[in-house]
Amino acid sequence: MPKGMERFGKVTYTSEAKVSDFVKYLEEGKVMATRCKKCGRLYFPPRADCPECFSEEYEWVPLSGKCKLITYTVAHFAPTGFESDVPYVLAVAECEEGVKVFTRVSKDISVDELKPGMELKLAPIKVNEDKYSFELQKP
Ligand SMILES: [Zn+2]
Repeated sequence: MPKGMERFGKVTYTSEAKVSDFVKYLEEGKVMATRCKKCGRLYFPPRADCPECFSEEYEWVPLSGKCKLITYTVAHFAPTGFESDVPYVLAVAECEEGVKVFTRVSKDISVDELKPGMELKLAPIKVNEDKYSFELQKP
């Protein structure tokens, strides 16, 4: 699991105050990336500081949600906060904007249906009363 993903989902998504708007956007039904104003690189999940050019100037860019499945794996063991959810599917998908997303696949899609290259939709979801996340759904 990539570094940082252990806090994904049920646990607060990001503690970085600068990009906390991300959760607000999810609440509004939007999945947003950030774009570095200096070099134009797009980041998802959003980040307030660009590791390429060290600029801290960024702007919010909405993602269309259109993406293609690259690969996936079925998780039978879960980090803290996910124990009751196993098994679930984690996937890497590429958005049409070019950013790669690593996240869960909706339970509405069975593992048998998943094929690399298939179209998926990146969509915001409400996890519980005050936690928001995003997942890959059927387009
Ligand atoms: Zn940059």
